[in-house]
Amino acid sequence: MNLILASNNTHKLQEFREVLAGTDICVISQREAGLDLDVDECGATFAENAWLKAAAVTERTGLCAVADDSGLVVDALNGAPGIYSARYGGSHGESDEYRYTLLLKNMQGKENRAARFVCAICCTFPDGQILRAEGVCEGSILCAPRGSGGFGYDPVFEVAGTGKSMAELGPEKNMISHRARALLQFVEELRKIHAFE
Ligand code: IMP
Repeated sequence: MNLILASNNTHKLQEFREVLAGTDICVISQREAGLDLDVDECGATFAENAWLKAAAVTERTGLCAVADDSGLVVDALNGAPGIYSARYGGSHGESDEYRYTLLLKNMQGKENRAARFVCAICCTFPDGQILRAEGVCEGSILCAPRGSGGFGYDPVFEVAGTGKSMAELGPEKNMISHRARALLQFVEELRKIHAFE
């Protein structure tokens, strides 16, 4: 089955394809679908934003769409950057490095470094059906960046029980990340309503 990924993030597209390799789900990018959409993520939760993005694509194309809204939730910062992870510090225009450097600055002197990545997935169907899944990956905020893989806040997030930052994990990221967990749950739910491999 074909699903349009409601995102312009090439890292997310790659992770979706890697995790879903071996299933019968083919993830098509917005660009491949000829879509130029940038949805206002004005929801109050990851789940609401995921729905806004997927629903916009299904409404525009009449086809099945899937979206992921994700981010980093830091306890000592009262849950920030949370749903604002992509625009932490002001705007979408800044770099990943700018955002994680700001995060490290805001974490200076904090003893509690517990944090988690959260990923909400929403799949919308032309008949109005909606499928949701969520995944969480627990860890802590490092004092300095480590590793060169992944994207976003990966270099400053140590994955619980691994001793490695998310950016040091390599392909293992796709077995334990918040996105991988949400996608596995999503595939399970999808199997219940659609017959595919
Ligand atoms: P979204 O496109 O609104 O879901 O924004 C997600 C933002 O959260 C990204 O731009 C990253 O800053 C951060 N984020 C989400 N998933 C990851 C991940 O797997 N690694 C690192 N940062 C992530």
